[in-house]
Amino acid sequence: MQDCIFCKIAKHELPAKILYEDDQVIAFNDIDPKAPTHLLVIPKRHITTLNDLEEGDEALVGRLQVTAAKLAKELGFAEAGYRVVMNCNEDGGQTVWHIHMHVLAGRSLTWPPG
Ligand code: AMP
Ligand code: ZN
Repeated sequence: MQDCIFCKIAKHELPAKILYEDDQVIAFNDIDPKAPTHLLVIPKRHITTLNDLEEGDEALVGRLQVTAAKLAKELGFAEAGYRVVMNCNEDGGQTVWHIHMHVLAGRSLTWPPG
C-alpha cells in the first residue's frame, strides 16, 4: 500500500520509536499518546480493517497479542495492568487504515470507553 503510513513505518521509510520487530509484526510508540504508555502493534502486511482478516490470519493476529503481552512484561506494566484495543471502521474510531493493536498503560483506565 503506497500511501499507508503504517506500511511506511513497517518498511522503515517513516520514523517511529520502534520497540520490537520481527518478520511479521512491528511495535512502536503512538505519536499522540492517550496514556502514559501507548504502543501500537501492527502486522507488517497491509490489512485495511479487521473486516479484511481471512482464514489463515489466526496466527498473525495471535502474534500481535503475544507481542503486546511480551512488551507489557519487558516494559514493566504487565502486573499493574493495561488495555488492548483494536478499532474498526468509523463507529469504532479507526483513523489509520492498516490494522493496529493499541496497548495503553500507566494510568487507571476508565470503562466503558467513550
Ligand atoms: P485509530 O484511531 O485506532 O486508527 O488509531 C490510530 C493511531 O495511530 C492514533 O492513536 C494515532 O495517534 C496513531 N498514529 C498516527 N500516525 C502515527 C505515526 N506516524 N506514528 C505513530 N502513531 C501514529
Ligand atoms: Zn498499510
